[in-house]
Amino acid sequence: MDDKLKELADLMFPNVKHDIAYYENKYPKRNLKEGARVTRFAPSPTGFVHMGSLLSAFEDYKAAKDTDGVFYLRIEDTDQKRSVENGIVGILNDLKNFDIIPDEGMISETESIGNYGPYIQSERMEIYHTFCKDLVLRGLAYPCFCSSSELDETREIQEINKERIGYYGSFAKCRSLTIEEAIKKIKNKEEFVVRLKSPGNFSNKIVLHDEVRGDIEFPENDLDVVLIKSTDKLPTYHFAHLVDDHLMRTTHVMRGEEWIASFPIHDQLFEIFNFEKPKYAHLGLVMKIDEEGTRRKLSKRKDKEASVEYYHKEGIPKEAVKLYLLTIANSNFEEWLDSNPDKSIDEFKFDFKKISASGSLFDVQKLLNISKNYLSRQKASTIYNNLLTWTKEFDLEFANILENNKDYAIKIFNIERDTLKPRKDYLSYSDIKNHVWYMFDKYFKNVVYDFQKINQKEDLKIILETYLTNYLDLSDKEVWFNKIKEMCDKLGYASNIKEYKKNPELFKGNVSDIATVLRVALTSKTNTPDLYEIMILLGNLKIKERFTKCLESIK
Ligand code: GLU
Repeated sequence: MDDKLKELADLMFPNVKHDIAYYENKYPKRNLKEGARVTRFAPSPTGFVHMGSLLSAFEDYKAAKDTDGVFYLRIEDTDQKRSVENGIVGILNDLKNFDIIPDEGMISETESIGNYGPYIQSERMEIYHTFCKDLVLRGLAYPCFCSSSELDETREIQEINKERIGYYGSFAKCRSLTIEEAIKKIKNKEEFVVRLKSPGNFSNKIVLHDEVRGDIEFPENDLDVVLIKSTDKLPTYHFAHLVDDHLMRTTHVMRGEEWIASFPIHDQLFEIFNFEKPKYAHLGLVMKIDEEGTRRKLSKRKDKEASVEYYHKEGIPKEAVKLYLLTIANSNFEEWLDSNPDKSIDEFKFDFKKISASGSLFDVQKLLNISKNYLSRQKASTIYNNLLTWTKEFDLEFANILENNKDYAIKIFNIERDTLKPRKDYLSYSDIKNHVWYMFDKYFKNVVYDFQKINQKEDLKIILETYLTNYLDLSDKEVWFNKIKEMCDKLGYASNIKEYKKNPELFKGNVSDIATVLRVALTSKTNTPDLYEIMILLGNLKIKERFTKCLESIK
């Protein structure tokens, strides 16, 4: 080996103790069954998961689980600006809230599980340096001493001359430094970054395969990209990706489409090291249509629905969020769900070909619709338990009421539930109170009665009093309803809607107007679930009480 080159490499990487072979040995090929996928979620420790990242984490998780593979969590903290205190725990919590539990990787701020760690990049310095030193020794990487003002100058010249921007060819000044010059500068303590000496030619075309988008043609990379940064000696994304995804034996790199442009750089790095290349899937962005009707990226800054915390606060069940994410990201999911309504989503097989390349359109209304359908299919006791958990965090008063009235609450949630076409009115756990508050005296105060057609005190009084004196027997729905009809006939309202429609002028109203009076007097609302069931749950004592309260309130 060239002694001078060795001297340079040692000076550049004084702390490297091992060689690549050592790490290849330490992190052997994984012993998994044929076709098993190894995927990863690789966020910066920002403390939370954005909806778009959750979607990609979920797809990563599914892609691995479908094949009995491995899904791991790697923390990419090489960009210190994006790190926040306790940033890993926040991510773990968000993932856990959606049942995405990695098989390997970080499990707290400092601990990890798995044999392919460290799973946090700042602890992998020696590994990156080992790999980079190898490139220097092979003449494929070099120190670059250009200052930022020199780089700016080059860029300006390129802009003026309408040339491609970047550090390449004759613009790559430090490429032509001799080894001796470089050694001298390092000995003089000049700051440097390490750059790839790209063997590529921009006029060559290469075709790279993307699992989602198919074959994509690119010019070959000729940029001498930075591999190791100067100040902290941490690797850039490009280099860390190569080293980590190789040594962690990732089979499928699923990442945001913003990385497509760097795909040729990554392919070149894998070529240079002669490593087996992972498969790549560049996922489309999560978009929304904003108030002005423009399609744009869901933004963590502008859109509250971009943070996964929002769903937790709103009480949208995680299952509904997952169903929704699978729906927007996989073109075949909705159809699968329609034909397999009772199967667990774990049984849905993930397929790269069915992922939308153009991005997924995020629409909270559609999510709420899925949530509503999901909640309508749950047992009343499940609703009770989950609502209790949610209220304990967000509405303590309601939590106490629920806890003290467990059977009653479950019966309320059960109205029109155990049927072939269950009632769909709860959008989320936070929405349930909007639909049931009037069943609890604590909330049934200062109510405004929404009377409709029959709204005169005299008429209301007669109806409510007639009901109270004659019709309190709730033992059978048919008997009860016949009695209501009897009351209609007696008070001059039509018990038969058809007859009423033929000659409306003969009646003061019809049976449904009477039912509305009873409903409004009991609940203050015109639209509620089944009146008979509500009456049974309230019981005769409360019915009397509420009718009296109602009559008192009408002037
Ligand atoms: N840390 C990178 C990001 O957040 C990860 C990209 C990747 O998955 O490779 O964009």
